[in-house]
Amino acid sequence: MAIMVQKYGGSSVATPAHIKRVAGHIARSREQYDRLVVVVSAMGDTTDDLLDLARQISGRPSPRELDMLISTGEQQSSALLVMALQEIGCPAISLTGAQSGISSSNVHTRAEILAIDPSRVVKELDEGKVVVVAGFQGVNGNGDITTLGRGGSDISAVALAVALGAPVCEIYTDVEGVFTSDPRIVKNARRLDEISYEEMLELASLGAKVLHPRAVEFAQKFNVTLHVRSSFTWAEGTLVKGVDELENKRVVSGVACDLNTAKAVIMGVPDRPGVAQKVFAALAEANINIDMIIQSMMRDGRNDIAFTVERSALPEAIEIMERVARELGAEGVAHDAGVAKVSIVGAGMVSHPGTAATMFGALADAGINIEMISTSEIKISCLIQEADAQKAMQAIHERFHLDA
Ligand code: ADP
Ligand code: ASP
Ligand code: MG
Repeated sequence: MAIMVQKYGGSSVATPAHIKRVAGHIARSREQYDRLVVVVSAMGDTTDDLLDLARQISGRPSPRELDMLISTGEQQSSALLVMALQEIGCPAISLTGAQSGISSSNVHTRAEILAIDPSRVVKELDEGKVVVVAGFQGVNGNGDITTLGRGGSDISAVALAVALGAPVCEIYTDVEGVFTSDPRIVKNARRLDEISYEEMLELASLGAKVLHPRAVEFAQKFNVTLHVRSSFTWAEGTLVKGVDELENKRVVSGVACDLNTAKAVIMGVPDRPGVAQKVFAALAEANINIDMIIQSMMRDGRNDIAFTVERSALPEAIEIMERVARELGAEGVAHDAGVAKVSIVGAGMVSHPGTAATMFGALADAGINIEMISTSEIKISCLIQEADAQKAMQAIHERFHLDA
């Protein structure tokens, strides 16, 4: 008996007409898979609209109530999709995250899936129904609804595939697969037939929102192949799978850009042991994640330490740094929220000298200044001004001939 888990993103179920089209596709898929579980996102911009409603009521809504509110988007779309399936004679049932046995941690608005008890889902499948699960949500130990963070329906889908033993999870979205860069920004971006989990995880973490990084992580850990496809053209798409199964290792597979970043600098800190520890321990205590770090060359016994944080964490980071700066006798604190991180990702770059130089050359020729750099075995990231982001992505994409 063949089993498949399919996930349809918000744009795929944006209107009643879209929902009817998706229902038709599901009915056809059923000819191939006798056990079919479908995870849906909320229709179009519903989640944003619900968040906006909350903002009109309160500047600081309680996270529990926010989850209660925004989880309703997926309940709407799952029920509507089942109605559409029933209209065309396809037996189906919708289930919430809790009804599907998705247990999560307690952290409202960004909960983690802890376990799945798929018994209800299995029972409905045994009865010959397509099971449509509301994505993006789980239930915590108190029985309260949680959500999994923006874009979290991808995680619901992969976790269900793991729990049900499905070898493949199809992710239907509004582009034809994973591209060498965001096809909405880089016009000649090319679709990749396949990409490794490692590369996809980096691209997703570095701003390519076509897949949620945690969904990729799950898929890698449990060896579920992800098949990213378009629900608009139904074309073949991209397979995300283990690096050993790939036909070739590209030096550079893709270019990503992350605007959710900001730069913070603590200037003129005395050059003595323990100073960096003091700065970063204070930030860690406040749960602020640090990404890129640069310590400049010493002058007159003092250093500048610059780093990046998520943009939303900048105000709190600055407050903490001003306090630490006073304690350390530093010269001051500066920040810039108008930055962007552009990155290249490729499993083959580790054995290919000159990749960094090529990337820096592309930026230099485009007249773009690099403010910070960070590297790992399979990625190189540069912090630049946000205004240059699109130009930078185009220039890097071209320099590595990614459209070829
Ligand atoms: P969904 O609602 O289906 O989950 P998302 O908006 O979350 O869709 O993700 C799809 C979007 O991801 C695309 O419209 C595209 O603009 C963006 N994207 C960013 N980087 C890439 C990439 N490398 N390949 C494909 N899409 C990308
Ligand atoms: N509807 C949720 C969001 O907009 C979850 C998702 O689309 O995956 O973030
Ligand atoms: Mg998404």
